[in-house]
Amino acid sequence: MAVLIFSGGLDSTTLLYYMAKVEKVERIYALTFDYGQRHAREIDHARRIVEFARDEMDVKHKVVDLSSIKDLIAMGALTGDEDVPKAHYADKSQRATIVPNRNMIMLSVAVGYAVKVGAKAVYYSAHRGDYENYPDCRKEFVKAMDTAVYLANIFNPVEIRAPFVDIDKAGIVEIGLKLGVPYHLTWSCYEGRERPCLSCGACIERTEAFLLNGVKDPALSDEEWKKAVEIYKRVCGRR
Ligand SMILES: [Zn+2]
Repeated sequence: MAVLIFSGGLDSTTLLYYMAKVEKVERIYALTFDYGQRHAREIDHARRIVEFARDEMDVKHKVVDLSSIKDLIAMGALTGDEDVPKAHYADKSQRATIVPNRNMIMLSVAVGYAVKVGAKAVYYSAHRGDYENYPDCRKEFVKAMDTAVYLANIFNPVEIRAPFVDIDKAGIVEIGLKLGVPYHLTWSCYEGRERPCLSCGACIERTEAFLLNGVKDPALSDEEWKKAVEIYKRVCGRR
């Protein structure tokens, strides 16, 4: 049994399937956090993905309402008033999307839940592409958090696991395509609109990941995919 921090995005959905199918975790407790993010749309996607995945695995799902902390941590582009910068995910401009201490907060809540349900690990989908702009997705942080969590719960030890920490987004998609991940249900865009904007850092990184695997993003229509590729080439032409 293990707990998963599950956003309904591409990385954590791949991790859900990876836990069930590769690591053979028998029961997964997925937690989706509402921390007042402008892209709250991903919470609906998380629910739909779990419904879909239930045919293939034992997964429980809870949405955790942390929206009351928004006033405390509102800053930058995901929870504040700033615009979401249009550039590649690894570009320094994306630091505007940092939500201070977000992963530490979510992991802390998830560890408490793990101890309660008797799970021995908490998984989250930090990946190599996060390294540049999100310090709480780095290997050093995962290690330190794992130690702190062990010491804080020494009578009921819980491990922090981030198996994608050295894998980039294209590598995650490569794994997910083999595992039958329902990418058509996942949401990555930082904007909270009806359809993905195709030009925020999350959209561009996602387009790149599918392009590098030689497949169309199944969440997009043919027309949207064409536009996404054009935007990617324009923004990242020199990458
Ligand atoms: Zn977007």
